[in-house]
Amino acid sequence: MATIASKIQEVSRRIARACDAAGRPVASVTLLAVSKTFGADTVREALAAGQTRFGENYVQEALDKMAALADARARLEWHLIGPLQSNKTRVVAESFDWVHSVDRLKIAQRLSEQRPASLPPLQVCLQVNISGEASKSGLAPTEVEAVARAVSALPRLRLRGLMAIPEPAGDLVAQRRPHRELRELLERLNKTGGPTLDTLSMGMTADLEAAVLEGATLVRVGTAIFGGRPPAEAARSGG
Ligand SMILES: *Cc1c(COP(=O)(O)O)cnc(C)c1O
Repeated sequence: MATIASKIQEVSRRIARACDAAGRPVASVTLLAVSKTFGADTVREALAAGQTRFGENYVQEALDKMAALADARARLEWHLIGPLQSNKTRVVAESFDWVHSVDRLKIAQRLSEQRPASLPPLQVCLQVNISGEASKSGLAPTEVEAVARAVSALPRLRLRGLMAIPEPAGDLVAQRRPHRELRELLERLNKTGGPTLDTLSMGMTADLEAAVLEGATLVRVGTAIFGGRPPAEAARSGG
């Protein structure tokens, strides 16, 4: 059985090949290991292999893992990538380094108010519903500019960019389209004169090559590193 270390290496090779194909430096893409449903021991194994950035979907599960890994906190960067309800913003503001799933101004305002002064600003991305699916969370592309302007003004947040979870698509051409749309949206925002946004959080196990070809700066990879998740996970609601 492949170890987590060897699977991280294989994912890093996939990223490097895609960067080569795109004519981009390998260092321009960050790997976020999505550890949802896997325990603290598994995260520790990945950390021992040199992986320091972890993405979590469920707030309580993440808090439990953070507690179990408190001794390694200084080396870890925790990213919330799952849906965030307003009754959970305080613990998130107190515990995470990044939130990728900001999809309402109200959530951003609460995170800013609740971010402790002792911590650096919370790094955030706006989640965009790029495929236009009725069931998915995320801002409509047309809403993004106004929300980005308002979020940029919040004192305890630092708006870094955009995140999306495109609909699964079979081939590379179809996979690239939503990723390209998210990149173009970021480019348009960067022309409106606000603070420069440097992060495109897009690409997962199935489509990371398409995402890197379209400019992803951070790919969120779970399955290719940790293996399949239990089917029950699909039925869980976020938060
Ligand atoms: C679970 C999840 C991932 C990782 O997906 P894989 O297909 O396992 O790589 C990435 N992003 C988000 C938002 C997720 O919920």
